Amino acid sequence: MGGVLAAVIPEPGARVEVREVAEPELEENSALLEVELSEVCGTDVHLQRGRLAGVPYPLVPGHVSVGRLGKIRGRMLDVEGRAFREGDRVTFLDVHRTCNACWQCLVAKSTTRCPARKVYGITYGFADTLAGGWAEKVYLKPATRCISLEGVEAETFMAGGCALPTALHAVERAQIPLGATVLVLGSGPVGLSAVILALMSGALRVLCTGAPDSRLEAARAAGAHATLNVETHSTDEREEWVLAHTAGRGADVVVEATGAPAAVVEAMRYARDAGTVVVVGQYTDHGEVSFNPHLDLNRKHLDVRGCWGSDFSHFYRGAQLMADAARAGPWSRLRLERFGLGRANEALAAVASGRVVKALIDPRA
Ligand SMILES: [Zn+2]
Ligand SMILES: [Zn+2]
Repeated sequence: MGGVLAAVIPEPGARVEVREVAEPELEENSALLEVELSEVCGTDVHLQRGRLAGVPYPLVPGHVSVGRLGKIRGRMLDVEGRAFREGDRVTFLDVHRTCNACWQCLVAKSTTRCPARKVYGITYGFADTLAGGWAEKVYLKPATRCISLEGVEAETFMAGGCALPTALHAVERAQIPLGATVLVLGSGPVGLSAVILALMSGALRVLCTGAPDSRLEAARAAGAHATLNVETHSTDEREEWVLAHTAGRGADVVVEATGAPAAVVEAMRYARDAGTVVVVGQYTDHGEVSFNPHLDLNRKHLDVRGCWGSDFSHFYRGAQLMADAARAGPWSRLRLERFGLGRANEALAAVASGRVVKALIDPRA
């Protein structure tokens, strides 16, 4: 039995290193995924810098991945009860062990807040075997939910990557009225997917603010009608720009996908009276921000919604969209950059600086 190469973050703040580990023994109803591509996203940058709580270092990052089922012991079933076969191309829901028995799951029906849930590549560490995608193989534990990607290009699916279910959840929370003007704050992967999905949901026009220019160009290629660089425009200039594009009223719906706390207040200010704001960009704690409850929220009669994580339905519907060539078009045009396991640190730096639209780990490169 040969070893398996995996990229590991040894401890918070340490550089990623490649280690060779023994291939894990398979329990009943588990499988090994031979990774084709795995995600490098902002969360991985935060993981490497030690900015997320409750992470069991050392850790193999990579929460969303695509690959082929290399070995199955027992049975792995899809959501319609069909058995997967060795050789099938799949992705899998990175969230594992949602209990469907606790108060959050059963009463609040908010499974993304289930306290029992574990996430591959984030809250499963190296001690939990090969539980991250930056490796030649991932151990898919029993009850891991796989989704077929037969007929879907690995690269196209990963152009959406983890941003696709995240943005899908946010756009679902936004309940965009047909013909609405939507403003997306942020031009990272979640912002870009939100632009595409907002248009798919019936928005007439989507505006996008972000940086650098290469990502704003990607937003326009994805269908955004107008973009503005936040590095070269003050908040007052941004507000004027939004008002100029919305007959002086503000956007019907604003999706915040930046990671900067101040953007949440901007989102409220750029929304029209009685509009909707969805906050999806605050996955890590970047601190506090102040706002005027009378002017920014109450008098505006705003509907402000948080959006935490994603569940199986968002992954499943994302995969369905990607299986439709016409729907997948805007994602297939995004520029991707592949990095081998040995270049994981470069990939993190490229994501942190925003130099790339999307970085992927290709363990076979
Ligand atoms: Zn639960
Ligand atoms: Zn991610």
